[in-house]
Amino acid sequence: MVHPLSTPLLAGQRRALAKAITLVESTRPEHEREAQALLAEVLPRAGQSVRVGLTGVPGVGKSTFIEALGVRLADAGHRVAVLAVDPSSARTGGSIMGDKTRMPRLTVHPGAFIRPSPSGGALGGVARRTRETIILCEAAGYDVILVETVGVGQSETQVAAMTDLFVLLTLPNAGDELQGIKRGIMELADVCVVNKADTNPAAAVRAQTELRAALTLLTPHGAPWRPTALRASALTGEGLAQVWDAVESYCAQVDVQEKRRAQTTVWFDELLREAAWRAFQARLDPARVQALRADVAAGRLTAVQGVTALLQPDAAP
Ligand code: GDP
Repeated sequence: MVHPLSTPLLAGQRRALAKAITLVESTRPEHEREAQALLAEVLPRAGQSVRVGLTGVPGVGKSTFIEALGVRLADAGHRVAVLAVDPSSARTGGSIMGDKTRMPRLTVHPGAFIRPSPSGGALGGVARRTRETIILCEAAGYDVILVETVGVGQSETQVAAMTDLFVLLTLPNAGDELQGIKRGIMELADVCVVNKADTNPAAAVRAQTELRAALTLLTPHGAPWRPTALRASALTGEGLAQVWDAVESYCAQVDVQEKRRAQTTVWFDELLREAAWRAFQARLDPARVQALRADVAAGRLTAVQGVTALLQPDAAP
């Protein structure tokens, strides 16, 4: 059976795409089943895009940067989808602080599609829906997918696990900035961009140099891609072409399809672990778990003995 949204979605109709995303975001079981059927139908048509993750502290200029880059790419004939992962909006269940007003020019561009972060549910749920939204956007013909992390420091790993490459925006005052950037986030970055280079060109050059040194230290020998550090101004547009050149070089040098296969496998295993845990948990007797936990806490059993007892109810120690 062909889902009614399938044909208009594959024809690139935005309304169908928006509705399909709403279906994917729904937590109602019948919607979930429907969404999975639709995703399975359109999956063979997905995958033809470059998936770029973007992060940076609030105020670094992410919205301005995505808007400037997005308009540039859409003007050049690309179809650009902008998605956001925002765990804070997930937590408050709410307000998706107007992505549309954050990117006014891109919002009205016929070649662009902007979707705010889904609200409700834990970060894991938001990440899952964003993955599925990427598939839908690709099936609708979007060939550049920009996934922005809006939250602070929680969603980067998830976004890096669903994109081909990861762009980290920083500020010209690199000394201060480097201290603020967690090492883990630097390790995820394939392209670092010192944004707002127009505000202090000399500081931006220093920041770039420091970033280059840091990236060299972090990059393992023989890695297929050496992360780069660039300078740009989202406000004036300077340096944006070089950023896109770096994205294209990355795609030419790294086996993106292989990376995606690895990402999907990890994702499958993660879902399997979650599902297995839920299924197992449903069969546990809470009173018995409680009693064993107390035994372990009191030192009457080792933790391993406690868990073994739960897994083999007949072999109680
Ligand atoms: P976000 O919180 O990371 O999304 O940051 P915004 O895109 O909202 O930008 C924060 C502020 O920095 C806004 O007032 C922007 O106009 C400004 N801004 C962003 N990029 C640049 C830039 O390259 N140069 C200058 N001078 N200002 C910028």
